[in-house]
Amino acid sequence: MSKKVIVIGSGPGGYPAALRLKELGADVCIVEAWDFGGTCLNRGCIPSKAFLDTGHRVHAFEGLRKLLKDGSGVNFSPDMLDWDKVKARRADVITKLRTSLEKLFQAKKIEVIRGRAAFSGSNEITITGPQGEIKKTFDAAILAAGTRPSFPPPFRDFHEQLTDSDRIFDLPRLPKSLLIVGGGVIGLEFACFFNAVGVKVEVLELLPDILAGEDPQVTRAVRSSFEKRGVKFHFGKKTASLELGAGLKAAVLEDGTRIEAEEILVGAGRAADLTGMGLEALGLAWDRRGVKVSDRMLTAVPGVYAVGDVNGISLLAHSASRQGEIAAENIMGADHAFDDSIVPKCVYAWPEVGSVGLNKAQAEAKGLAVKTARAFYLGIGKAVATDETEGFAQLVFDAGDETVLGAQIVGGPATELIHVIALAVKLKLKRRDLKEIIYAHPTMAEAIHEALQK
Ligand SMILES: Cc1cc2nc3c(=O)[nH]c(=O)nc-3n(C[C@H](O)[C@H](O)[C@H](O)COP(=O)(O)OP(=O)(O)OC[C@H]3O[C@@H](n4cnc5c(N)ncnc54)[C@H](O)[C@@H]3O)c2cc1C
Repeated sequence: MSKKVIVIGSGPGGYPAALRLKELGADVCIVEAWDFGGTCLNRGCIPSKAFLDTGHRVHAFEGLRKLLKDGSGVNFSPDMLDWDKVKARRADVITKLRTSLEKLFQAKKIEVIRGRAAFSGSNEITITGPQGEIKKTFDAAILAAGTRPSFPPPFRDFHEQLTDSDRIFDLPRLPKSLLIVGGGVIGLEFACFFNAVGVKVEVLELLPDILAGEDPQVTRAVRSSFEKRGVKFHFGKKTASLELGAGLKAAVLEDGTRIEAEEILVGAGRAADLTGMGLEALGLAWDRRGVKVSDRMLTAVPGVYAVGDVNGISLLAHSASRQGEIAAENIMGADHAFDDSIVPKCVYAWPEVGSVGLNKAQAEAKGLAVKTARAFYLGIGKAVATDETEGFAQLVFDAGDETVLGAQIVGGPATELIHVIALAVKLKLKRRDLKEIIYAHPTMAEAIHEALQK
């Protein structure tokens, strides 16, 4: 008899797990309480990139203006943007992708149950949904329930009057000014988009810098690019109170600074909320970081796995997907581990950022002697020809045998180029191996080639 497996959540953690389980012969069913495809497809990676694409078009339009005869052409202003069309385009992109995902599940004959799942016994879940209550038993379960936007104090008490990364996509109109709480990837991508379409953007970050954990050369380059375009950052300051009367909203910082904006977006991280999921019935502990798992994605309860955001390891869609596949394979008898060291970390703003493996500080913290090599796009033909000279490619090598340990790329198609280095890190390639690749000319990848010559 085939193994009965239940997957809870259809995001990039859950749906690849269900597909892999089906492929491996399991009797699989997937439960989704909200939109099929999870946060990534409906309220995360995809809609944010559709918004950013609108920003890119404005950016390109501004670039074209430089080549027009003086006095000709039009100046972009936010009033020209049809906000409803921007939102409709985002909705259209989501619908296309969600429909094809749903069709794939129909074609593969994978049972999809709509409703909220909760564990009601050591090998049973209860699903409450439009069809009433359904009980299902399982041999193994994969928890892929994701996370939700988190509201630190004092923002928590004003949840309804502020916006978050779920609701920002449906703002009734484009605000004239926006205060973004959080200088991580989510905050920066929204800052980039709203700034590009003419909104006055300020970013409030509790830490001393943006993109926590990222190489300081990277954060400096990104920060300075954003600042040149008019984004204002406030670092290392706590918010003492909020004033949310009629008119502009205001955050009052502990040092008395008052930041006013038409809208406040809280993008200060995400947290697990597993209330009501019956984890207590299983004897499974959780906190806001989620459920602890081994590198095999197994929780403390035999047969129960947790993948994606809900295990707090990486909070990225591609990590979730790999973890989902690993959990599925392990349930069906394999013994695979998740390798965090080759997960690319990307920012899809401009300049783009792609980093993988170790940066200098991370390598040194592990006791490794390293050397770095950096080449700026300013010296790369394609970058100059396309007016994309912002940024650099930086490689990190073991100081002794020159094994490639990681890379940080800022600017150009950094989120694409980084995969070359991910492969090098995975295969433990040496500097000389990367030098043997022939880099097409003219390409932005020549920045990697240039860095290898340093
Ligand atoms: C604005 C934004 C932009 C982002 N951009 C990127 C990006 O560019 N690249 C990237 O890698 N990551 C990005 N992320 C992060 C990415 O979205 C998440 O890492 C990813 O969605 C996690 O996948 P998951 O499957 O673990 O969880 P989710 O995608 O959150 O899916 C979990 C699903 O479980 C369902 N669920 C929860 N509880 C139950 C229950 N009891 N019963 C049934 N169903 C349940 C939920 O409804 C949800 O659909 C972004 C996130 C945001 C918010």
